[in-house]
Amino acid sequence: TEPLLHVKNLHTGFKIDGKFYNAVDGVSFEVKRKRIVGVVGESGCGKSVMSLSIMQLLPPGVGEIQEGQIVFEGEDISRFSDKKMNKLRGKDISMIFQEPMTSLNPVFTIGYQIEEVILNHEKISKKEARLRSISLLRSVGIPRADKIVNEYPHQLSGGMRQRVMIAIAIACQPKLLIADEPTTALDVTVQAQILELLKGIQETNDMSIILITHDLGVVAEICDEVLVMYAGKIAERATVDELFNNPKHPYTQLLMKAIPKMDEDVEKLATIEGLVPSITNMPQVGCRFSNRCPKAMPECMTVTPQLREVVPGHEAACLLYNESWPEEQKPKKERA
Ligand code: SF4
Ligand code: MG
Repeated sequence: TEPLLHVKNLHTGFKIDGKFYNAVDGVSFEVKRKRIVGVVGESGCGKSVMSLSIMQLLPPGVGEIQEGQIVFEGEDISRFSDKKMNKLRGKDISMIFQEPMTSLNPVFTIGYQIEEVILNHEKISKKEARLRSISLLRSVGIPRADKIVNEYPHQLSGGMRQRVMIAIAIACQPKLLIADEPTTALDVTVQAQILELLKGIQETNDMSIILITHDLGVVAEICDEVLVMYAGKIAERATVDELFNNPKHPYTQLLMKAIPKMDEDVEKLATIEGLVPSITNMPQVGCRFSNRCPKAMPECMTVTPQLREVVPGHEAACLLYNESWPEEQKPKKERA
């Protein structure tokens, strides 16, 4: 059956000093219905730009989709007009961000902000919208919802604010929720509660979720499938079980080592040495991870690895697995 979302060969560029640079460079993936897909990578890997592309929330005049398709329920939405996107956003596709304080308006009550979204998309009375916002607040685990509905964002804790953001995001029962680092700003206990809440509402609302995170530990908690992104491209894709049991890409293997353990000092986390190449300084040929890769070989500088199936249902873009690819899929040496 047709996936809910099918991103095909997406290229998103950013204009810097009059020149376009690719932040997302040929990314393709599917999100099936009722699935949670994790997108993981360090900051600067293109995962947020990818999700802003889906929502058409790129900074106007700076970020631009240059190529590819974003097929949502069978329709390419990548060139939708603002008017059509406004109908879709908040209704069929919603998004939550890392810091709820910046997405909530400090001068309006919680209830007003939930009802605004509902009234924007549905023809119901203000009274009905109020009742619905109270029940939404209950459904995201907010106690005394009939009181909280009249309060302002600053009166709530960070965890409660993120719950409010989730209530707003699911107010019109979207089919797809994009959650960009939804728990990063929260402490560990609250993080676990929010992930549990997301998993719960995914099940009760039959939604799909794209969960963007730098933390593979978060992915392990609730995702079905994972995309590992590096420098604007997909480095590896697999089900969660397969990825954790059998990580293939050296970048994924290093991310695994960086997962915080409960009993470890966060300060002493294993981090991956070096930096993601900046979009203005991206190697045009060869593997983009080669300057940091502990397994790099001479050909990694000259041959660009393509995303290929290395085990059934499991893909990686790494020349270590070149031998397992069918002859016609093997990357050719490129001319410099
Ligand atoms: Fe490392 Fe080479 Fe694989 Fe890139 S292609 S991840 S440099 S081994
Ligand atoms: Mg980000």
